[in-house]
Amino acid sequence: MFQSDTIAAIATAMSNAGIGIIRISGPDAIAVADAVFRGKRRLSEMESHSISYGYIVDPDVKDPLTSKPRRMDEVLVSVFRAPRTYTREDVVEINCHGGILMLQEILRLIFKKGARPAEAGEFTKRAFLNGRIDLAQAEAVMDLIRAENDLSARNSLEQLSGALSYRIREMRQKLLYEIAFIEAALDDPEHYDLDGYATELKGKLEDLSAGLEELLASSREGAYLKEGIVTAIVGRPNAGKSSLLNALAGRDRAIVTDIPGTTRDTLEEKVRLGHVTLNLVDTAGIRESDDQIEQIGVQRAFSSMREADLILCVMDASRPMDREDRDLLRELPSSTDLGHCIILLNKMDLDPVLTREEVREVLPEMAEDRILSASALREEGLDLLSDRIEKMFFRGQIQENGQVFITNARHKYALDQARASLRLVIDGIDRQMTEDLLTVDLMNCYEALGKITGETLEDDLADEIFSKFCMGK
Ligand code: GDP
Repeated sequence: MFQSDTIAAIATAMSNAGIGIIRISGPDAIAVADAVFRGKRRLSEMESHSISYGYIVDPDVKDPLTSKPRRMDEVLVSVFRAPRTYTREDVVEINCHGGILMLQEILRLIFKKGARPAEAGEFTKRAFLNGRIDLAQAEAVMDLIRAENDLSARNSLEQLSGALSYRIREMRQKLLYEIAFIEAALDDPEHYDLDGYATELKGKLEDLSAGLEELLASSREGAYLKEGIVTAIVGRPNAGKSSLLNALAGRDRAIVTDIPGTTRDTLEEKVRLGHVTLNLVDTAGIRESDDQIEQIGVQRAFSSMREADLILCVMDASRPMDREDRDLLRELPSSTDLGHCIILLNKMDLDPVLTREEVREVLPEMAEDRILSASALREEGLDLLSDRIEKMFFRGQIQENGQVFITNARHKYALDQARASLRLVIDGIDRQMTEDLLTVDLMNCYEALGKITGETLEDDLADEIFSKFCMGK
């Protein structure tokens, strides 16, 4: 364990709440807490992983009535002794029930007794430096805190428990074995034979490369998971686009009226639908118009369609299909990949006259299960919509355990580097390069992968990563 001082911070949100927690970590954590705690027993006498009831007192200020140290808050204090703790150091957590001002007072007292303010992410950094978690796991802590939907949270938890790190380590071990073998063979040609080795190596590296490709491919899904799916809601005026956005967002975000053409600009909204996050863009209704502002809106609608990951095309199913509806449907394949498109036959609570078959007559390429019925007004049909979206973007893999998605740009970059080095080795084998030259790129690949878990650590990288954390974590 590296030598360190004792740090403290408020670990809960900086707002008044029922409970606030102060966390202390380091060799003097228990002594510092003891200096301000009065309970049945001293904390230093408590067993690890136990909790004690008592008071935080200011030992330097006497209460004029009792002449005892002034009580500041009634608390529960947990004691965790190294090494089975978050940081692998002694950790004390004080559950206070004062508001934020009182928490800050108590923290100041703790600083006076010998702890120093923790930097952002310093608790997790210590966990990393003390070898309890690797860098990828530390980053997963931050992602878990920031997760906006439960799939993203589940993925972060999977990474925190080491699912990604395990796969990276496995790849690195294989690489290291080959590097070591080549070095040994070059040093001791009598005992190690390199004849035919290159072909064998190529096979192994192709397997590794497939693993890398799989991880890299998951980064697209990883981005949907973490950042959300950019979703454009398009359709004719009055089809129910704003109502759909409101139904999804669960509040009145867009202005709903029954005068066609009231949504003239694009609105954006992040909503959680089922297990995923949609970044919704509500667009102006698409129709022919002489109104200039409305025309600009229509232009924007088309451009947001081109930029979107998902297009929800809303149609008013209570009216028969007319020429403009057909034009809109025919427009879809030229603005987007139909694979990213869902057609929503809205207003199914009224007597629907527009059918799925009619849509398919105009747009035969549209898959039948991508044409859904819904009522934005009654919020019906949204479950099926969310189910369909998950299947479209996550290929159903989401339910399986152990599947990790690359959600971190730093990891993706390192994987890209590893892939490039691996390609150079495979290329080198094809060009019959000598083994000693191959080891250079094998080593580069090994190092690139090590950056993900932090085994190859670049200067200041850890500092930079942990500085992005929240206080008290
Ligand atoms: P937009 O122009 O496409 O954004 O359409 P709006 O969301 O403003 O809706 C136009 C009109 O249709 C409003 O009067 C809505 O209340 C109504 N509307 C929207 N969705 C439904 C629905 O599912 N059922 C019924 N009956 N009316 C709806």
